[in-house]
Amino acid sequence: MQNPFQNAMAQLDKAVKINKTKKLHDLAERLRQPERDIRISIPVQMDNGAIKIFEGYRVQYNNALGPYKGGIRYHPLTEINEVKALAFWMTLKCAVAGIPMGGGKGGITVEPKDLSKGELERLSRGWVRALSDVLSPHKDVPAPDVNTTPEIMAWMADEYAKISGDNTEASFTGKPTDQGGSEGRNTSTAQGGFYGFEAFRKELNLPEKCTVVIQGFGNVGSHAASIWHKAGHKVIAVSDSRGGIYDENGLNIEKLLEHKKKTGALANFPDSKKITNQELLALKCDLLIPSAFENEINKENADKIKAKVILELANGPTSPEADEILFKRGIPVLPDIWANSGGVIVSYFEWDQNLKRGHWTEEEIFKKLKLMIEDSAKQILEKSKESNTSLRMGAFILALERIQEKLK
Ligand code: GLU
Repeated sequence: MQNPFQNAMAQLDKAVKINKTKKLHDLAERLRQPERDIRISIPVQMDNGAIKIFEGYRVQYNNALGPYKGGIRYHPLTEINEVKALAFWMTLKCAVAGIPMGGGKGGITVEPKDLSKGELERLSRGWVRALSDVLSPHKDVPAPDVNTTPEIMAWMADEYAKISGDNTEASFTGKPTDQGGSEGRNTSTAQGGFYGFEAFRKELNLPEKCTVVIQGFGNVGSHAASIWHKAGHKVIAVSDSRGGIYDENGLNIEKLLEHKKKTGALANFPDSKKITNQELLALKCDLLIPSAFENEINKENADKIKAKVILELANGPTSPEADEILFKRGIPVLPDIWANSGGVIVSYFEWDQNLKRGHWTEEEIFKKLKLMIEDSAKQILEKSKESNTSLRMGAFILALERIQEKLK
């Protein structure tokens, strides 16, 4: 796989070429490496009595705007360059969102499906024990990412409270609602993406009811499928790591969710055709939503994309080369650091509620989320028009200017 950190730095280089001011150039130099990059080893007692050592990470990229903020990824391919890239993107994402948070990210190289629940809990608590000195509600606030659930966040918050004595519950976000979590956090990334899509729909000449293709059926992809389907759009294809399903008449997402729960897979859903992930990315549709991993849209497949618009709910799904190809082909990409910011925005709301001992309703949360996404949409559009560049570069320039402003 292409190194995601090199991709992130290539994006940064491009932004500096577009905005040639010395200030942004100096800031970009500072953002070429994280402030801190920590690698840990986590010994875990397995159910068979053996001790297994796992490799874990926390990258604290930049905290100019506030405490480091960002999720923890559990995946067999997770490694330091991926975590660094994700932490860099979090820095920009928080700036674009306009929240008082910096950027960080964590991870463990592990296939969580291979662990029992007890092993997973011991591993998660071990991650916190190894890093407790550098975490806290005012230093660094982790959250869920790929394969990390509200339950895992609750174990981690509990472990942190035991070690530190901090009882604010604001040390981790994305917790279950009965353990200090915020209403709406679980669906917030997809929900925020939907508000973003609505904010841009007319500007991008998309029809009122769109045909939608979604790659990835984890937390973000499956909620996105439900949200777009409920709003009356036609979700014609979805996929997970094992492949996808397609029905040109539109998939019934409620039934599909039941089917996946029952069978554990998307395959064999009645009336649907089986397709590969590559075929799915090349389907003709109004809106393509990559919600899986980095580099899925790359120089090999970018000229095969037939979607009118791409909305990035994954982090880093489009490589810099693919970005160039899509820009030349006139296919707008609604960029990850804005499009999937709903997750971290509601994480910020959760942190704020925890510190104030408050509890907001889901209605309040989504109302605020919508306003924030709409506001940043306007600013990104303005920046990209000003420099006649892509929405991604508009978002980069907006973020860099906001960070620069704070560093003065
Ligand atoms: N992992 C999510 C992201 O990539 C959310 C991070 C957070 O809530 O802090 O944006």
